[in-house]
Amino acid sequence: MRKPLIAGNWKMNKTVEQARLLVSVMVPELHTVDVETVFFPPFTALMAVSAMLAGTKIGLGAQNLHWEASGAYTGEESPQMVAELCKYVILGHSERRQYFGETDGSVNKKVKAALAVGLTPIVCVGETFAENEAGQTASVVSRQVKAGLADLSVEQVLKLVIAYEPIWAIGTGRAATASGANGVLADVIRPALAALFGAPASQQIRILYGGSVTAANAVELFAQPDIDGALVGGASLKSADFIKIVKAAVR
Ligand code: PEP
Repeated sequence: MRKPLIAGNWKMNKTVEQARLLVSVMVPELHTVDVETVFFPPFTALMAVSAMLAGTKIGLGAQNLHWEASGAYTGEESPQMVAELCKYVILGHSERRQYFGETDGSVNKKVKAALAVGLTPIVCVGETFAENEAGQTASVVSRQVKAGLADLSVEQVLKLVIAYEPIWAIGTGRAATASGANGVLADVIRPALAALFGAPASQQIRILYGGSVTAANAVELFAQPDIDGALVGGASLKSADFIKIVKAAVR
């Protein structure tokens, strides 16, 4: 049985003071809920949020890392630096692919580097609106899965999480339908995982849905058999909404 996971991607939002306020409202509501819940604040707020989450069951993650261990990479954070504060990291988010030149190849290097220091990567995949309209969802998503997870062992892949995030659904208020999202997980992503790592592993790996998840659509999404939780952007900044989404994921 795959344990549900709800990840709140705060993106480039919240100063340290604002982060403290948001966490102080959410922790009392969430720390007893039996759902793996993870906050992904911006780098500047990681230290403050880490201190507030100590002793709770809520996890902490970063939104990116660099694959090198150290060196002249101005503005970047190494896997070891992230692992000092976090247990999770989001990799290959479509905004990083779109605005910062991330490729399947760089995602693959980051996945390996994150696993090497014991982090749990949440690896994002998803097609654009044009690709979706052209009927290319299956080919794009399976290419991203195969290339992003290239050369991993079964043991390694069992430690990561995949997030299916159709780009046309991110931040648009136009979520995929529950059955449509489940279909991509069941008919594209799990078969791609099975081809690479075997059928048992493909059934054990958790796959999240992301893209305009709200308190209103969460219940229907989480009722789908292949959706193991959500990567939540906008609604993770609103405490009341995020709390409802986490509670909707209880099995
Ligand atoms: C995201 O940032 O990964 C995301 C899914 O955003 P939103 O929930 O705002 O669509």
